Amino acid sequence: MQEEVLGGRFLSIGECMVELSEADDGHLRKGFAGDTFNTAWYARACLPADWSVDYFTTLGDDAMSDEMVAFMRGAGIGTADIRRLRGKTPGLYMINLKNGERSFSYWRDSSAARLLAADGDALRASIEASDVLYFSGITLAILPREDAYTLLAELRRAKAAGKPVAFDPNLRPRLWSSLDAMHTMITDGARASTVVMPSFDDEAAHFGDDSIAGTIRRYRQYGADMVVVKNGPEGATVGTDANETLVPAVKVDKVVDTTSAGDSFNGAFLAHYLQHGDPLAAAAFAAEIAAKVIQEYGALVSPKKLKTAR
Ligand code: ADP
Repeated sequence: MQEEVLGGRFLSIGECMVELSEADDGHLRKGFAGDTFNTAWYARACLPADWSVDYFTTLGDDAMSDEMVAFMRGAGIGTADIRRLRGKTPGLYMINLKNGERSFSYWRDSSAARLLAADGDALRASIEASDVLYFSGITLAILPREDAYTLLAELRRAKAAGKPVAFDPNLRPRLWSSLDAMHTMITDGARASTVVMPSFDDEAAHFGDDSIAGTIRRYRQYGADMVVVKNGPEGATVGTDANETLVPAVKVDKVVDTTSAGDSFNGAFLAHYLQHGDPLAAAAFAAEIAAKVIQEYGALVSPKKLKTAR
């Protein structure tokens, strides 16, 4: 029997952006999203009330930052540790739709989130006050190199203290100064983690892995206890000390929008795993949530639409 674990504080670290998407009438619709925030959203939706889910980032002192914080709070996500920097603004991206194909434009080079690890004391205090940490390769990519090292040092402390630290490499070569820099920092990210949650197509493209077993082996050699490799409609493979097990995806007749498939999988997986400690059951649950998410438009699907039989 698995032991049931009492609640705690889940902290997701990264950048949430303003999202603009084209509405039918040529107007722009405003939203808020970003990989680590999306995962916090789904973790919040899937965890019971005795868990708190907090977001760690930095924002500006403008009206858009105020709205973003209000949006997070409205979703039940804690914002107490979000620092607000004078004169800064959040990053922004726009989704363009042409002949049914989506493309993205980003304005994030000088976003406030790039300074999220500049105050090492604030970062340490927030991580120390948390029980579970979550971050991604995008979190590392947007930081000045020294600040990324500050963040990794704090995460390694958390890992050494026995806390779960989950990491999605989320490889985005365009955010990095070079492929070398990406490889080095992603590897360091994995070293600071207990659970690594990569997507196989990214890892094959950018690390040259020729099999899922190869991805699992590579990340486990850096000291992750568990590697969960997502592979779209093929499902996810959970690699632990004991074995590697494929947990199939849920069959979906009509995929509407795959945005956030991986982010929602991560949030749901962690929510389930933290409560029940069974990675295979957690992956099956996460596949159900991700299947619901890809049948709706947008990164953030309402918790009401995520109800499952589990
Ligand atoms: P990412 O968005 O990080 O690239 P994936 O595309 O691998 O992640 O998808 C994450 C999870 O979402 C998969 O493990 C699977 O459970 C689910 N998923 C993605 N695409 C599909 C699909 N076409 N049908 C069913 N499930 C899917």
